[in-house]
Amino acid sequence: MTRLRYLNTTCAICGEACRFTIPEAVASIGSRDLDTRPAEPLRSTIYAWVKRCPSCGYCAPDPGKAPEGAADVVKLPRYREQLDARRYPGVANTFLCWSLIQEDLGAPAQAAWASLHAAWVCDDEGNDVPARICRKRAADLLRRAWEQGERLASQAGADEALLVDLLRRAGRLREARAVAKEVLEQNPAPLIAGIMRFQVRLITASDRGVHTVAEVRRSGQPVPQ
Ligand SMILES: [Zn+2]
Repeated sequence: MTRLRYLNTTCAICGEACRFTIPEAVASIGSRDLDTRPAEPLRSTIYAWVKRCPSCGYCAPDPGKAPEGAADVVKLPRYREQLDARRYPGVANTFLCWSLIQEDLGAPAQAAWASLHAAWVCDDEGNDVPARICRKRAADLLRRAWEQGERLASQAGADEALLVDLLRRAGRLREARAVAKEVLEQNPAPLIAGIMRFQVRLITASDRGVHTVAEVRRSGQPVPQ
Protein backbone atom coordinates (compact mmCIF):
# COMPACT_ATOMS: atom_id res chain seq x y z
CA MET A 1 0.00 0.00 0.00
CA THR A 2 1.43 3.35 -1.00
CA ARG A 3 0.82 6.49 1.03
CA LEU A 4 -1.01 9.36 -0.63
CA ARG A 5 -0.15 13.01 -1.01
CA TYR A 6 -1.95 15.84 -2.75
CA LEU A 7 -0.99 18.10 -5.62
CA ASN A 8 -2.66 21.52 -5.50
CA THR A 9 -2.41 23.31 -8.80
CA THR A 10 -4.16 25.74 -11.11
CA CYS A 11 -5.32 24.41 -14.47
CA ALA A 12 -3.13 25.97 -17.16
CA ILE A 13 -6.07 26.00 -19.60
CA CYS A 14 -9.04 27.34 -17.59
CA GLY A 15 -7.52 28.66 -14.35
CA GLU A 16 -9.56 26.38 -12.07
CA ALA A 17 -7.95 25.44 -8.76
CA CYS A 18 -7.46 21.66 -8.79
CA ARG A 19 -6.41 19.14 -6.19
CA PHE A 20 -5.14 15.72 -7.21
CA THR A 21 -4.26 12.69 -5.15
CA ILE A 22 -0.77 11.46 -5.90
CA PRO A 23 1.00 8.42 -4.48
CA GLU A 24 4.38 8.69 -2.85
CA ALA A 25 7.19 7.94 -5.28
CA VAL A 26 7.79 4.20 -5.49
CA ALA A 27 10.07 1.95 -7.50
CA SER A 28 9.18 -1.32 -9.17
CA ILE A 29 10.35 -4.65 -7.78
CA GLY A 30 10.55 -7.48 -10.28
CA SER A 31 10.52 -7.93 -14.01
CA ARG A 32 8.96 -5.57 -16.48
CA ASP A 33 6.43 -6.75 -19.00
CA LEU A 34 7.63 -7.04 -22.59
CA ASP A 35 5.88 -3.72 -23.34
CA THR A 36 7.93 -2.02 -20.57
CA ARG A 37 5.10 -1.93 -18.02
CA PRO A 38 6.84 -1.88 -14.64
CA ALA A 39 6.21 -4.36 -11.82
CA GLU A 40 4.56 -3.44 -8.53
CA PRO A 41 4.28 -1.23 -6.60
CA LEU A 42 4.94 1.33 -9.36
CA ARG A 43 2.58 -0.60 -11.68
CA SER A 44 -0.50 0.23 -9.62
CA THR A 45 0.22 3.96 -9.39
CA ILE A 46 -0.77 4.33 -13.07
CA TYR A 47 -4.07 6.04 -12.21
CA ALA A 48 -2.04 9.03 -10.94
CA TRP A 49 0.31 9.35 -13.94
CA VAL A 50 -2.17 11.56 -15.74
CA LYS A 51 -4.79 13.98 -14.37
CA ARG A 52 -7.95 15.61 -15.61
CA CYS A 53 -9.13 19.14 -14.82
CA PRO A 54 -12.69 18.64 -13.53
CA SER A 55 -13.70 22.01 -14.95
CA CYS A 56 -12.49 22.08 -18.58
CA GLY A 57 -11.40 18.47 -19.13
CA TYR A 58 -7.75 19.27 -19.82
CA CYS A 59 -5.81 16.02 -19.34
CA ALA A 60 -2.07 16.01 -18.66
CA PRO A 61 0.54 14.56 -16.30
CA ASP A 62 0.57 18.03 -14.71
CA PRO A 63 -2.50 20.14 -15.60
CA GLY A 64 -0.69 23.13 -14.11
CA LYS A 65 1.39 23.18 -17.30
CA ALA A 66 0.17 23.18 -20.88
CA PRO A 67 2.15 22.99 -24.12
CA GLU A 68 1.42 25.75 -26.60
CA GLY A 69 -1.66 24.91 -28.63
CA ALA A 70 -3.13 22.53 -26.03
CA ALA A 71 -6.06 24.91 -25.34
CA ASP A 72 -7.19 24.53 -28.97
CA VAL A 73 -6.97 20.73 -28.92
CA VAL A 74 -9.10 20.55 -25.74
CA LYS A 75 -11.94 22.24 -27.69
CA LEU A 76 -11.87 19.82 -30.64
CA PRO A 77 -14.92 17.52 -31.03
CA ARG A 78 -12.56 14.53 -31.23
CA TYR A 79 -11.12 15.45 -27.84
CA ARG A 80 -14.52 16.09 -26.21
CA GLU A 81 -15.80 12.73 -27.48
CA GLN A 82 -12.75 10.89 -26.14
CA LEU A 83 -13.06 12.54 -22.72
CA ASP A 84 -16.16 10.54 -21.84
CA ALA A 85 -16.05 7.71 -24.38
CA ARG A 86 -18.12 4.99 -22.76
CA ARG A 87 -16.21 2.02 -24.16
CA TYR A 88 -13.04 2.98 -22.25
CA PRO A 89 -12.34 3.16 -18.50
CA GLY A 90 -12.19 6.78 -17.26
CA VAL A 91 -8.44 6.84 -16.66
CA ALA A 92 -7.87 5.33 -20.14
CA ASN A 93 -9.84 8.25 -21.61
CA THR A 94 -7.65 10.66 -19.65
CA PHE A 95 -4.51 9.06 -21.12
CA LEU A 96 -6.05 9.02 -24.61
CA CYS A 97 -6.93 12.73 -24.36
CA TRP A 98 -3.32 13.52 -23.40
CA SER A 99 -2.31 11.31 -26.34
CA LEU A 100 -4.54 13.34 -28.69
CA ILE A 101 -2.94 16.58 -27.47
CA GLN A 102 0.55 15.21 -28.08
CA GLU A 103 -0.46 13.87 -31.49
CA ASP A 104 -2.01 17.17 -32.56
CA LEU A 105 1.01 19.12 -31.36
CA GLY A 106 3.34 16.94 -33.46
CA ALA A 107 4.81 14.73 -30.73
CA PRO A 108 3.91 11.19 -31.88
CA ALA A 109 6.41 9.46 -29.56
CA GLN A 110 4.80 10.99 -26.47
CA ALA A 111 1.36 10.30 -27.96
CA ALA A 112 2.35 6.63 -28.42
CA TRP A 113 3.41 6.30 -24.78
CA ALA A 114 0.14 7.81 -23.57
CA SER A 115 -1.84 5.43 -25.77
CA LEU A 116 0.13 2.46 -24.40
CA HIS A 117 -0.61 3.64 -20.86
CA ALA A 118 -4.31 3.76 -21.78
CA ALA A 119 -3.99 0.13 -22.92
CA TRP A 120 -2.57 -0.85 -19.51
CA VAL A 121 -5.57 0.72 -17.77
CA CYS A 122 -7.87 -1.24 -20.11
CA ASP A 123 -5.89 -4.42 -19.28
CA ASP A 124 -6.44 -3.84 -15.56
CA GLU A 125 -10.17 -3.43 -16.14
CA GLY A 126 -10.32 -6.55 -18.31
CA ASN A 127 -11.46 -4.52 -21.35
CA ASP A 128 -9.85 -6.46 -24.15
CA VAL A 129 -11.24 -4.72 -27.24
CA PRO A 130 -10.44 -1.17 -26.05
CA ALA A 131 -6.97 -2.40 -25.00
CA ARG A 132 -6.38 -3.69 -28.54
CA ILE A 133 -7.53 -0.38 -30.05
CA CYS A 134 -5.14 1.54 -27.76
CA ARG A 135 -2.24 -0.75 -28.76
CA LYS A 136 -3.00 -0.40 -32.47
CA ARG A 137 -3.04 3.37 -32.00
CA ALA A 138 0.28 3.23 -30.09
CA ALA A 139 1.85 1.12 -32.87
CA ASP A 140 0.69 3.57 -35.56
CA LEU A 141 2.04 6.53 -33.55
CA LEU A 142 5.35 4.73 -32.94
CA ARG A 143 5.81 4.26 -36.68
CA ARG A 144 4.88 7.91 -37.27
CA ALA A 145 7.55 8.90 -34.74
CA TRP A 146 10.11 6.85 -36.71
CA GLU A 147 9.07 8.64 -39.90
CA GLN A 148 9.92 11.90 -38.12
CA GLY A 149 13.28 10.51 -37.03
CA GLU A 150 12.17 10.12 -33.39
CA ARG A 151 12.48 7.06 -31.16
CA LEU A 152 10.44 6.15 -28.07
CA ALA A 153 13.43 4.64 -26.28
CA SER A 154 17.14 5.33 -26.67
CA GLN A 155 18.41 1.72 -26.44
CA ALA A 156 19.02 0.11 -29.85
CA GLY A 157 16.22 -2.28 -30.76
CA ALA A 158 13.99 -1.26 -27.84
CA ASP A 159 11.45 0.44 -30.10
CA GLU A 160 11.28 -2.61 -32.37
CA ALA A 161 10.81 -4.90 -29.35
CA LEU A 162 7.97 -2.67 -28.15
CA LEU A 163 6.37 -2.59 -31.60
CA VAL A 164 6.32 -6.39 -31.83
CA ASP A 165 4.61 -6.64 -28.44
CA LEU A 166 2.08 -3.92 -29.35
CA LEU A 167 1.19 -5.75 -32.57
CA ARG A 168 1.05 -9.20 -30.95
CA ARG A 169 -1.19 -8.05 -28.12
CA ALA A 170 -3.36 -6.10 -30.57
CA GLY A 171 -3.92 -9.41 -32.36
CA ARG A 172 -1.96 -8.39 -35.46
CA LEU A 173 0.09 -11.56 -35.36
CA ARG A 174 1.26 -11.68 -38.98
CA GLU A 175 2.51 -8.10 -38.79
CA ALA A 176 4.19 -8.78 -35.43
CA ARG A 177 5.99 -11.83 -36.84
CA ALA A 178 7.19 -9.88 -39.87
CA VAL A 179 8.75 -7.17 -37.66
CA ALA A 180 10.36 -9.75 -35.34
CA LYS A 181 11.87 -11.69 -38.28
CA GLU A 182 13.14 -8.49 -39.86
CA VAL A 183 14.89 -7.49 -36.62
CA LEU A 184 16.41 -10.97 -36.16
CA GLU A 185 17.87 -10.82 -39.68
CA GLN A 186 19.76 -7.68 -38.65
CA ASN A 187 21.72 -9.55 -35.97
CA PRO A 188 20.57 -7.46 -32.97
CA ALA A 189 22.09 -7.33 -29.47
CA PRO A 190 21.56 -10.52 -27.38
CA LEU A 191 18.78 -8.99 -25.25
CA ILE A 192 16.77 -7.91 -28.30
CA ALA A 193 17.44 -11.20 -30.13
CA GLY A 194 16.25 -13.19 -27.10
CA ILE A 195 13.08 -11.11 -26.84
CA MET A 196 12.39 -11.45 -30.56
CA ARG A 197 12.81 -15.25 -30.55
CA PHE A 198 10.51 -15.44 -27.51
CA GLN A 199 7.96 -13.25 -29.30
CA VAL A 200 8.06 -15.48 -32.39
CA ARG A 201 7.22 -18.46 -30.15
CA LEU A 202 4.30 -16.57 -28.58
CA ILE A 203 3.05 -15.51 -32.02
CA THR A 204 3.26 -19.10 -33.31
CA ALA A 205 1.13 -20.16 -30.33
CA SER A 206 -1.35 -17.29 -31.06
CA ASP A 207 -0.61 -16.05 -27.53
CA ARG A 208 -1.85 -12.46 -27.12
CA GLY A 209 -1.31 -12.37 -23.35
CA VAL A 210 1.02 -10.40 -21.10
CA HIS A 211 4.56 -11.77 -20.63
CA THR A 212 7.62 -10.47 -18.82
CA VAL A 213 11.30 -10.04 -19.65
CA ALA A 214 12.03 -12.57 -16.86
CA GLU A 215 10.18 -15.21 -18.89
CA VAL A 216 12.54 -14.57 -21.80
CA ARG A 217 15.45 -15.39 -19.46
CA ARG A 218 13.75 -18.50 -18.12
CA SER A 219 13.01 -19.66 -21.66
CA GLY A 220 16.73 -20.28 -22.08
CA GLN A 221 17.43 -17.34 -24.33
CA PRO A 222 20.85 -15.81 -23.70
CA VAL A 223 19.71 -12.57 -22.12
CA PRO A 224 22.07 -10.55 -19.93
CA GLN A 225 20.77 -9.25 -16.59
ZN1 LIG B 1 -9.19 23.35 -16.64
